[in-house]
Amino acid sequence: MTVTVTSSPDAPPATRPPRPGRSNGQWKVDGAEPLNANEVWKQQEGGLGVRERIEQVYAKEGFGSIPPEDLSGRFRWWGLYTQRRPGIDGGRTAQLDDTELSDEYFMLRVRLDGGAISLAQLRVLADISHEFARGTADISDRQNIQYHWIRVEDVPEIWRRLEAVGLQTTEACGDTPRVILGSPLAGVAQDEIIDPTPVIDEILGLYVGDPELANLPRKFKSAITGHPSLDVVHEINDISLVGVVHPQLGAGYDLWVGGGLSTSPRLAERVGVFVRPEEAAEVWHGVIRIFRDYGYRRLRNKARLKFLLAEWGPEKFRQVLQDEYLGRELPDGPPPARATGPGDHVGVHLQKDGNRYIGAAPVVGRISGDVLTGLADLMAHVGSDRLRLTPHQKLVVLDVPGRFVRGAVTRLEKLGLSTAPSPFRRHTMACTGIEFCKLAIVETKATAATTIAALEQRLADVTEQLDTPISLNVNGCPNSCARIQTADIGLKGQLVTIEGEQVPGFQVHLGGGLASVDRDEAGLGRTVRGLKVTADDLPDYVERVVRTFLDQREPAETFS
Ligand code: SF4
Repeated sequence: MTVTVTSSPDAPPATRPPRPGRSNGQWKVDGAEPLNANEVWKQQEGGLGVRERIEQVYAKEGFGSIPPEDLSGRFRWWGLYTQRRPGIDGGRTAQLDDTELSDEYFMLRVRLDGGAISLAQLRVLADISHEFARGTADISDRQNIQYHWIRVEDVPEIWRRLEAVGLQTTEACGDTPRVILGSPLAGVAQDEIIDPTPVIDEILGLYVGDPELANLPRKFKSAITGHPSLDVVHEINDISLVGVVHPQLGAGYDLWVGGGLSTSPRLAERVGVFVRPEEAAEVWHGVIRIFRDYGYRRLRNKARLKFLLAEWGPEKFRQVLQDEYLGRELPDGPPPARATGPGDHVGVHLQKDGNRYIGAAPVVGRISGDVLTGLADLMAHVGSDRLRLTPHQKLVVLDVPGRFVRGAVTRLEKLGLSTAPSPFRRHTMACTGIEFCKLAIVETKATAATTIAALEQRLADVTEQLDTPISLNVNGCPNSCARIQTADIGLKGQLVTIEGEQVPGFQVHLGGGLASVDRDEAGLGRTVRGLKVTADDLPDYVERVVRTFLDQREPAETFS
């Protein structure tokens, strides 16, 4: 690589211990006195309670009837965020308050635990997009579907339709147990170590919507997989259960805690215990209660579980979990083996029942109501009742009989869903960005799509040689929703000064990645000091990086 500018790791803030001698808002240590405005209103009335007011008051009286503490607070507990008012440029993001930035429309997130969608659910998701969301639908990198342009007047009807087919927006956002990432191949993969579906279902049934777990210090992200490709980004969740085989106890899970990115990235750590499948939900419940009871509530930007883990370390975490929450010791367990393949599941593959699963890539997760309808028609045609979304903004159609595969691939291509995407399309992700996000500084989705198209054209002569993934993660601000620090090329949106003028651009991070076939373990990328690229120059920059890598690589050297 020619880029050899000084670099710096991004981790230190997450490892700083809390200041001693003052309350850090840990309920079990300091008592429950609220230490900031969010903690005050959360204690006064939890977020779940706002649903009744949405149905009985706000949906009838309209946007203007919603008070600020519900609008920018409790609505999140039901998956609702106001979206960015159109026309506000990124330079004003930090200057305006939430009210000034907000439009009268909402982003609505539908939680799809394990990324699982039935055909009937898919039809409902498509209809909601057409009728209430101006045809929008994005696949998030947490296996959710996100709509835009939702009016509060329509929310009760949307809930009614979702819940009639077993879907929900409960705790899709907020300081709650968010959607549980699950292997998209749960129950179907030939090489699966263990099917996580029963554990996901048990946690969902027992704990999502539980008022006892609805006031956490911050969000709580979960991931569970039993697939050897390690397909749920387990290193960047608050809790992950990763399928392993214990030499004496058989198949179960390895427990990881304390991962998270944002502006203080930290990779999860192994606790070192083996979790039997039948106790996995109980262990999850123990970990989330540790977070509730011991998590830091003084400062919201230092509240995620990763800060507690940085202070305690995995040994103390294990001890507290065993002594105070489970009342028994857990056995030691083995770590997961190196990933056996790419975890995005793109392409056509054999299931254990002889049918095929087909993984396809939209462009940076952007689909639409039309695509959802087209997918539903395709699935009905081939007799499939199961679709799964992946944590890589891809989708997988399950249960396709062999005789329908070729036709299904053609229909997916016509819908703009490629089963054999270029490496640039396959390995590029983008967050919501300035189009709808109030925190954004720059545009992301269109910038990424333009970059993919340019690279496909310009690098056509070397694409064959590119036998190792180069991931490009495009983010509209430092919050890292599209994982700046775990990409080969991570892009953090900011304004860049060119000849005295500020233009949209990115700070470049290099060298990050999750555990994969190419690397034993995850690593955080490094900020390349002084290396910023404008949005317009992004295709030039990536082309230079790729060509330099191909020119200078050692035999069999991977980009990571
Ligand atoms: Fe919004 Fe920033 Fe997250 Fe992108 S990274 S979705 S701009 S908060």
